[in-house]
Amino acid sequence: MRKIRKTFILFCATVLFMGGYGVYMIASGSQIDFEMPIGNPPFVGRIEPSYSPAERSPVDFYLGLDNDFLLLVNKEHAAPADLTGNLVKASDYVKTLNPEMLLNESALAALTIMFEAAAEVGFTDFRATAGFRTYEQQRELYEKAVDKSFVAPPGHSEHQTGLAVDISYHGVNIGNSVQGNWLMENSYKYGFILRYPEGKTDITGFSFEPWHYRFVGIDHARYMFENDLVLEEYVGLRD
Ligand SMILES: [Zn+2]
Repeated sequence: MRKIRKTFILFCATVLFMGGYGVYMIASGSQIDFEMPIGNPPFVGRIEPSYSPAERSPVDFYLGLDNDFLLLVNKEHAAPADLTGNLVKASDYVKTLNPEMLLNESALAALTIMFEAAAEVGFTDFRATAGFRTYEQQRELYEKAVDKSFVAPPGHSEHQTGLAVDISYHGVNIGNSVQGNWLMENSYKYGFILRYPEGKTDITGFSFEPWHYRFVGIDHARYMFENDLVLEEYVGLRD
């Protein structure tokens, strides 16, 4: 019975997925130059209507066609000032440190599905410890920080995009933990990249941060993961 249910859900998801893709292609009339994961979607998840507005194609979410997801914010590139759109209260969907924490709706949808997948392998207590920050909040944080190598100056934090999330497990730093390793190995399947990996500090400008993940969409995340690229390198390749 379970198997039948699973098969049915998979079937429905595939139909919805392909239907959405067709509508997108007709609407946009454009060519898309990447490989579709036909018959083998990267994962099957649900998207709550509350954070997937009808005017936005779910395909954007699945594959990261929305180039906004590649927005580069680092010590050289400042975040645009008005990134307040599409923010959703994260605690309605995942465990958070701050109940008022906000995240971009697509990033949150992906995070919800990723935490559910983690729970299925026994990791039931992932928590989002930081999400969207305003310029003002980033300024306060920067001024208070003793070690500034882990904190971006105001205007230069990815957290100002709503696409970045800091993750802990059971209230503890996930560095050097099985849960941290699981995230490093699997997050790309849900559209996230480990933004500041070891050995890339000279490119990213940040020390290794095992807790900081950035949503870019599945297609981009998979490419970066498979080719060991950080966002600076990937965006550079596409320019
Ligand atoms: Zn962070």
